[in-house]
Amino acid sequence: MEDEPQELQLARQRLVEHLKHEGIRDRAVLEAIESVPRHVFVYEHLLERAYDDAPLPIGHGQTISQPYIVAQMTATLCHGKRLKKVLEIGTGCGYQTAVLAKLVEQVYSIERIKNLSQVAQMTLKNLNIENVTLKYGDGYQGWVEYAPYDGILVTAAPEHIPETLLNQLAEGGRMVIPVGELGYQKLMLIEHHQGNFKQTFLEGVRFVPLMPGLDE
Ligand code: SAH
Repeated sequence: MEDEPQELQLARQRLVEHLKHEGIRDRAVLEAIESVPRHVFVYEHLLERAYDDAPLPIGHGQTISQPYIVAQMTATLCHGKRLKKVLEIGTGCGYQTAVLAKLVEQVYSIERIKNLSQVAQMTLKNLNIENVTLKYGDGYQGWVEYAPYDGILVTAAPEHIPETLLNQLAEGGRMVIPVGELGYQKLMLIEHHQGNFKQTFLEGVRFVPLMPGLDE
């Protein structure tokens, strides 16, 4: 981003410093956060808050995730490796998608709200991010065409881990997913080894719910 106002660049650097303070150590993730302009993913009237460590509304009752959560989920998913194929459920505005795209070879991302998927597609194209493939669809089904995935990142919370997604996780693959009822969920890491799915609790989080079916 060469032609962006310096203020925004500084705000982004301050956000990265804040994330380090909060315990995010993965350098590649911090660099990705520093290089993705979060402000282009939010409404213009929220520009001044684009680099707050907070979720913000993106329309349709949905939110762009808090940067700390994006960093934490991405670091846990990638675990210091450059993953080949990652599936994201819940594209939203595409911010998390863009951060992942900096760190993995190919990102597939599904969104059930058509307008959000279309806007995300445009935003990512304007940023010349090419290693992402978006789909308007129901994430509960996963995306069988490209399965299995080395990583699956879910950015909305189901009450139970969908078995369909477990079935699309490669051997040695990792899934990061918030699970539970509206208001409080457990962020979980799932590791797949020979048909076993080891679950590790990471922290308490608040996500929008994973909804069944499509929304026009
Ligand atoms: N990663 C996004 C977070 C968006 S919030 C970002 O950085 O902006 C979670 C998103 O999940 C919402 O856009 C919501 O519409 C979407 N979602 C909810 N249920 C879904 C489902 N079954 N399939 C696909 N997307 C879903």
